[in-house]
Amino acid sequence: MRRRIIEALTYPRMLMMSRMDLRDCPMNRYFSSDQHVCQTCSQGEECHWLNSNDEFSVLSEQPIEALFEAFIFSIDYVDAHISRDGHNFRHCACETCTWAKDARHLVRRYKGQSVRVSGPSPSRQAAQGQKNVQSDLDQ
Ligand SMILES: [Zn+2]
Repeated sequence: MRRRIIEALTYPRMLMMSRMDLRDCPMNRYFSSDQHVCQTCSQGEECHWLNSNDEFSVLSEQPIEALFEAFIFSIDYVDAHISRDGHNFRHCACETCTWAKDARHLVRRYKGQSVRVSGPSPSRQAAQGQKNVQSDLDQ
């Protein structure tokens, strides 16, 4: 489940980067919540998300709850694009709509599993190494 959520974050990250206009960003695309320019930026929310979920951040070591929260944000983001572009994801087969459909399946699976499973603590899990990373929610 953890791995599938991390994989699912790839598409909205690409979409966000391609749609954002940061040519005039005085922070050089580095989001800082202390900076007034970031707090008032119209793209601040997306920028903050990208900074917390880029490919260099250690997504696999984040607790699954944090991954899921990032995932929900990305669904809202993609949904906004779908309605802006006039698509209906239930009846459309484009890449964005397909992602939105798959994302909802994943949310349902996550919610169905997380109520039953109490996994190991995130720090212990990270210490166990790569081969056990999927153990808690993939079972
Ligand atoms: Zn579509």
